[in-house]
Amino acid sequence: MTIFTAANSRTIIEAAQALRAGQLVIMPTETVYGLAGDAGSNDAVARIFAAKKRPSFNPLIVHVSGLPMAERYAEIGERAASLIARFWPGPLTLVLPKLIAAPLSPLVSAGLSTVALRAPAHPVAHALIEATDLALAAPSANLSGQLSATRPEHVSPDLIAAATLCLDSGSCSLGIESTVLGFSENDVFLLRPGALARADIEAVCGELSVPADNAVTGSPGRLLAHYAPHTPLRLNVKAPQRGEALLAFGARTPTFEGRVLNLSARGDLVEAAANLFSFLAELDREGHERIAVMPIPQEGLGEAINDRLTRAARMF
Ligand code: AMP
Ligand code: MG
Repeated sequence: MTIFTAANSRTIIEAAQALRAGQLVIMPTETVYGLAGDAGSNDAVARIFAAKKRPSFNPLIVHVSGLPMAERYAEIGERAASLIARFWPGPLTLVLPKLIAAPLSPLVSAGLSTVALRAPAHPVAHALIEATDLALAAPSANLSGQLSATRPEHVSPDLIAAATLCLDSGSCSLGIESTVLGFSENDVFLLRPGALARADIEAVCGELSVPADNAVTGSPGRLLAHYAPHTPLRLNVKAPQRGEALLAFGARTPTFEGRVLNLSARGDLVEAAANLFSFLAELDREGHERIAVMPIPQEGLGEAINDRLTRAARMF
């Protein structure tokens, strides 16, 4: 049974050990309480998605201690560097090109080639990152579609159940999420308004643009082009064909001579989610005619897996 414990130097070390062991921790930040896990661990990130019961894989914000750590994960351009110099640590998230060798789970950015980075100003969040020396994925500690938790008593029981340790640090001082920015060659885009005001940002980098379809979809628009492999996908396949690679699921796979990767031989949807983007990328690189995907049950994380697969298949 997990309950909140006061955040102090001892419990922060305990929490850091849990995070390094791949477990999840509820941590305070200056914006909202987050369900944190090692952003480099497919399994930890999959369990965050499972706990939040999101019907799709939205990319998560990766929390770092500051610029030097951010440089391990992303290409920091000049505009990003001046925003970081002015506003980090603080409620500003930057969506940046991910370094190819970045030690991050592909699931944390939902298979995209970008990563959203932020350095939290909250001393507990900062201390946890320093103590683990890990980048932490930490979406708000509430179920998908519910209000973000800004006090420990608002954290939903399902998320508490998913965490090994919950650190209590009272109310979050800001209480709203970070502002999210993205970059194109010429523009800086406001992808999500948040705790850092537009005017403050514009004083540093000039007028912000709004992605064209932002208002309609509420999603970060064109910059969040949906991940799709280059190889066409065929879904709900029971009998793979010659020339195809099989992305299997579960113990009962069809007999097949060709290439097979099994998302989870034991039929575990959290394991399947953890493997999804890495396995798709691997099969994609191998240059098969098509990737045949076995049926994935539409329950738990299966809903999010099917959502991504359907979108990827529709691109062809
Ligand atoms: P949160 O649930 O607080 O972690 O919110 C993450 C926000 O950042 C959402 O609005 C995401 O869509 C956005 N985001 C995270 N990563 C990316 C990315 N790689 N590209 C575009 N938007 C992103
Ligand atoms: Mg939220």
